[in-house]
Amino acid sequence: MASPAGFGAGPRRRGRRSQQTFRRAPSVTARILLTNDDGIHAEGLKALEQSLASLGELMVVAPDSERSGTSQAITIHAPLRLQQIDERHFSVSGTPADAVIIALHLLRFQPQLVVSGINLGANLGENIVYSGTVAAALEATLHGVPAIAVSLAVRHNPDFSTAAAFAGRLAGKVLAEGLPPGVMLNVNVPPGPARGIRFTRQSGKVSQNIIHEKRDPRGRPYYWQDENVIREHVEPDSDYAAVLKHEISITPLQADRTDYRSLNHLSSWVADLTAGGGRDVI
Ligand code: MN
Repeated sequence: MASPAGFGAGPRRRGRRSQQTFRRAPSVTARILLTNDDGIHAEGLKALEQSLASLGELMVVAPDSERSGTSQAITIHAPLRLQQIDERHFSVSGTPADAVIIALHLLRFQPQLVVSGINLGANLGENIVYSGTVAAALEATLHGVPAIAVSLAVRHNPDFSTAAAFAGRLAGKVLAEGLPPGVMLNVNVPPGPARGIRFTRQSGKVSQNIIHEKRDPRGRPYYWQDENVIREHVEPDSDYAAVLKHEISITPLQADRTDYRSLNHLSSWVADLTAGGGRDVI
């Protein structure tokens, strides 16, 4: 199958990824699903919706309240409630991944693209394993839908305008070009005007855990997790380095977590791990 320019070339990919095909938008009017982990009422989601409105038919299905830090959790031991707010807006009493699953399999919206965000706060480096914003996009890729996660790297007083405008431009590009199956784009936008756009790799850990101990009104201790950012030893080609330079970072992420280098090496352990002689391996 012919690949769109820009994806077919490049280094040979490992393992199952060596046979690349691309999902292109087949229709003139795109259907785009929007979601997030900050909740249906979040300002970043509204900014995203405004920016993408001209690209096609939008549907918003998002958690009914903030679910940041829930990663790709799904709700399987409690009921899910779905509330229709209007023709195109639904809230789900679950996680971001639940919202994507509900949109695709209950509402039967068949999007050509899922966009998650705009998250209030960065999703960089190894910290993305906790991100509900990224997880919603990754959930979409598991269902064969190209997806983008967009985060604004600020904690307070967000101005979503640059991130929203860029999300619209990138969404148009992905609708036109497609993405390799199983691959999503993790976008982080710096605060203020962006000085450039850079494709990056995921960095190592960008923060240290800290735990605040407080006392409740009855004098019992409780603990509140937070983080301190790390600014030393930032890898120069990483997502984190780009955002520190006030550049927009785009990192392609994949659902397949196999480490193929270790797979080759560790396979040599099989002989040592196999019990000798008998029919049983263990
Ligand atoms: Mn969030």
